[in-house]
Amino acid sequence: MLKREVRNLADGVWIISDYLLDNMYLVVGEEKAALIDAGAGLGNLPEVIASITDKPLVILLTHGHFDHIGGVGFFDVPAYIHEEDMPFTQYDSEISLSIYSEGFDPAKAREDYVFSRAPVRNPDATKEQLKALLVDLPYKPSFVGMKGGQKFDLGGRTIEVIHTPGHSRGSCCFLDDKSRLLFTGDTCNDSLLLNFPPSTTSVMTYHNGMKKLWSRKNEYDALCLGHDSLEIFDKTIINDYIEATKLIIEGKASQFISSTALHKGTGFRHKRALVWFDPEHIRD
Ligand SMILES: [Zn+2]
Ligand SMILES: [Zn+2]
Repeated sequence: MLKREVRNLADGVWIISDYLLDNMYLVVGEEKAALIDAGAGLGNLPEVIASITDKPLVILLTHGHFDHIGGVGFFDVPAYIHEEDMPFTQYDSEISLSIYSEGFDPAKAREDYVFSRAPVRNPDATKEQLKALLVDLPYKPSFVGMKGGQKFDLGGRTIEVIHTPGHSRGSCCFLDDKSRLLFTGDTCNDSLLLNFPPSTTSVMTYHNGMKKLWSRKNEYDALCLGHDSLEIFDKTIINDYIEATKLIIEGKASQFISSTALHKGTGFRHKRALVWFDPEHIRD
């Protein structure tokens, strides 16, 4: 099987790379451990977690996209997800059908995801190695709704939910008060996707959420991203996204990008931010 990158980032904080496709994080308190995002459901995730901690697990999801919730079925505990992203977990909901027109089939979504993304991220992996990642999940995934402002006490450290709608209506960041790390999911990455209406919000709604996040910048030192970087990331990228979306809202953005290896549409790069957006959905 392909080797998975697992690194200790801070006291009690590990990154578990989902074979470079997406990132999960394990935050271990004195009584419980939080798994922040569950990945696409690949390889033997429970074994990796067991090698780090045997504390009871709380699963916290940054948002409802398949590449972050696909591994919930590895565990027999329900996963917390913002209530506005709950429709992603219902495979025949309007939102799921807006993304997967023929209805959402988790096994097919996982296979499509691995075979479309993995060759870009793991150019040396063989087809057999990728196929071997598509293991059976032992449990039926179950989900519980959460709200912005909710706190999870892990014993000696508390994780707070900060609602940052944009990439999805229920996208959230998680703030760990002990490590002072902010886990951003897809709210803030190498690139930001706001171009899947109706499941994404207007550029304006995202912009306002990021300003709220930046107003709390003294409570965190660095970011842990949902994709791409395996290291803790400079928090000032949040400001790049605030500036980029302000330029889009004011009609001052130009030199749009139409495609990269992974994305197509209308993209705008500003400093380290790359925003893919829907020109018809800038304001509410
Ligand atoms: Zn996403
Ligand atoms: Zn993602």
